[in-house]
Amino acid sequence: MPQECIFCKISAKEIPVPVIYEDEYIIAFPDIKPAAPVHVLVIPKKHIANLLELTSDDIMLMGHVLSTIPKIATKLGLAEDGFRLVVNTKDNGGQTVHHLHWHILGGRFMTWPPG
Ligand code: AMP
Ligand code: ZN
Repeated sequence: MPQECIFCKISAKEIPVPVIYEDEYIIAFPDIKPAAPVHVLVIPKKHIANLLELTSDDIMLMGHVLSTIPKIATKLGLAEDGFRLVVNTKDNGGQTVHHLHWHILGGRFMTWPPG
């Protein structure tokens, strides 16, 4: 893992976070700077910098992430009104932490297009 990757440190429990969901492959925790009433990040424990770095080895992991996110969203109370799922990718996408992550945003109406 890259030594300075903050999300690797979170998945290795070197930085404590309030864990919302965790299993062998992924961990979900609140965003430190919430952009919505509910703002949770879901990360793979494995370091992958962004979507462009995925390989065929990650296919099962990606299926696991996407099939678990609705369960996490339901646990967060977002199933009835819905939510937004965001994966910022590299500079133009607004990615600031270079460890792949999904933002689950909910608790208010999300405008479109995003800024
Ligand atoms: P992105 O801009 O898509 O790379 O998203 C990175 C997100 O990580 C931002 O929304 C930050 O607020 C969030 N973040 C950074 N450090 C932490 C941390 N220690 N705990 C929780 N969220 C964090
Ligand atoms: Zn990492």
